[in-house]
Amino acid sequence: MDYASSIFQQIDEPGSFAFNHMIRGHVKDMNLEEALLMYDEMLELGVEPDNFTYPTLLKACANLPALEEGMQIHGHSFKLGFEDDVFVQNSLINMYGKCGEIGLSCAVFEKMEQRTVASWSALIAAHANLGLWCECLEIFGEMSREGCWRVEESVLVNVLSACTHLGALDLGSDYVVMSNMYAQAQMWHEVAKIRKEMVSKGLTQIPGFSLVEVKRKVYKFVSQDKSYPQCQGIYEMIHQMEWQLRFEGYSPDTSQVLLGVDEEEKRQRLSSHSQKLAIAFSLIHTSQGSRVRIVKNIRMCSDCHTYTKFISTVYEREIIVRDRNRFHRFKDGSCSCRDYW
Ligand SMILES: [Zn+2]
Ligand SMILES: [Zn+2]
Repeated sequence: MDYASSIFQQIDEPGSFAFNHMIRGHVKDMNLEEALLMYDEMLELGVEPDNFTYPTLLKACANLPALEEGMQIHGHSFKLGFEDDVFVQNSLINMYGKCGEIGLSCAVFEKMEQRTVASWSALIAAHANLGLWCECLEIFGEMSREGCWRVEESVLVNVLSACTHLGALDLGSDYVVMSNMYAQAQMWHEVAKIRKEMVSKGLTQIPGFSLVEVKRKVYKFVSQDKSYPQCQGIYEMIHQMEWQLRFEGYSPDTSQVLLGVDEEEKRQRLSSHSQKLAIAFSLIHTSQGSRVRIVKNIRMCSDCHTYTKFISTVYEREIIVRDRNRFHRFKDGSCSCRDYW
């Protein structure tokens, strides 16, 4: 940036292009005050800003945050006729949101004739920023209804955070996996619908559990639970199983775990799914070659499915799982559902 500045100094009559370049550079380096000063200089020299100038400046105001300057710049852009520019508008939504002026964000959004994915994203982010989770889901629902499907990952993160704050407290459980599955299938509105329904009915999250029968007694395992008396042994077994499975080519499929947590955490959560706990317990306490039977309350996630296929061949066990949708019979590394469930 120093080099760019020195070149800039040498330009006799810098135009809007040169100024935009400098402003962008300062914003990129987070020299936000510097960017605003550059703009003042631009105006003093009588250089007319263009539609590329404003989004960058508004970004500077959003990140400072500087509401007063932001409003001034909004005024300038209006005077110069850029108020209908979609990039300027998206930047305004973002700037007002970051400055905590959610009403002004909404006002800009309402006035827009044409909205892009970025407009919706900015509005959702603005609400998420203030913890207005219900509104986040509402806007998200509206977005889907308007046929806006191409969602950025950041939006999904905001929406799922909203879901989490609105009562889905146990992030680890399979219910989240299920809504993620919908999300992956681009059924965004379904995700929002499920969560809203849960909230409106005052339901918190349904924890995923698996029942397994061992020596004529039924044991219940809840995802992520570490409160069993035999817990230590089970988690040791899980560790051992995973090690052997990886040797055979298994790798954890973290694609259905909540976005926004790191890879290590994702793997951690996957390995504590109730079905795996139940299998581990059953392998410890039943005789070699005997059949394992599990009943679970929710649909099996794809990782548990792959995992169980591997177990059936590595440990030479037939494993029957009845999940919410159907029966699965795992034997010799494949499942009776032919991976369709
Ligand atoms: Zn699972
Ligand atoms: Zn299956």
